[in-house]
Amino acid sequence: MKKVYFGSNLKMYKNIADTVTYLQDLQQNTYDLSRDDVQLFIIPSYTALESANKSIDHQKILLGAQNMCWEDQGQFTGEISPLMLKETGIDLVMIGHSERRHIFNETNYEENKKVLSSLKNGFITLLCIGETETQKDYMISKEVLREQLRIGFYGVNTESVNKIWIAYEPVWSIGVNGKPAKADYVEEMHKIIKECLIEIFGSKGRDIPVLYGGSVNQQNCESLIVQPSIDGLFVGRAAWNADDFNALIRQSLMALQREKDRN
Ligand code: PEP
Repeated sequence: MKKVYFGSNLKMYKNIADTVTYLQDLQQNTYDLSRDDVQLFIIPSYTALESANKSIDHQKILLGAQNMCWEDQGQFTGEISPLMLKETGIDLVMIGHSERRHIFNETNYEENKKVLSSLKNGFITLLCIGETETQKDYMISKEVLREQLRIGFYGVNTESVNKIWIAYEPVWSIGVNGKPAKADYVEEMHKIIKECLIEIFGSKGRDIPVLYGGSVNQQNCESLIVQPSIDGLFVGRAAWNADDFNALIRQSLMALQREKDRN
């Protein structure tokens, strides 16, 4: 079975104590899963990172930050630098989440500076991309994704490929007002993303995991995870209770096993 990725961005919800309890519960619930087959990661708020780091085994769950400044230090009030994040012991940095792009107006060019800095500092770098509903209606989703990847990874060298992950999260499918994307639509977009990664990085681009996120839940996780170009699920609301996330992960793994047995 291919290695599958399951992760969650906790956004601005859990405080330090809630984050620690959640992580400990999730680690316990998922302890038996082979980490050769499954990679779990959680992305808490900045303020919870230090305590979160001490509360889990990173062999079991990787920890990430929700954002990062591209500069190591300087006159950037309110920003957090890669060096400060390193001190917290995290493994990965998420860049370009839809809410950063659309609420805080971050551009592809800024995401590119963050990607370069995150890789330089040795973090697994999770770049989020996705089209808006209007872009989808105008039938330019593929062009939008290609632009986000081409600019996002401009100047990144092939040696960094093993530290790059992608989350495809269509803006119209994320959050409380999101509409879940159909599995065949997601598969079509993931194929475009994978093709573009090969254009950028050559054959090594094939090794970059591409996760899907946007209203993933226990009802649709099976149809999504069995798509050949979907390497994992990036889950918001449906993952914020450790028991529910564990159930979603196991349901997805069983669906993959059934698919494997059928073929
Ligand atoms: C997200 O915001 O990245 C996300 C995937 O959220 P949800 O699953 O709640 O739509």
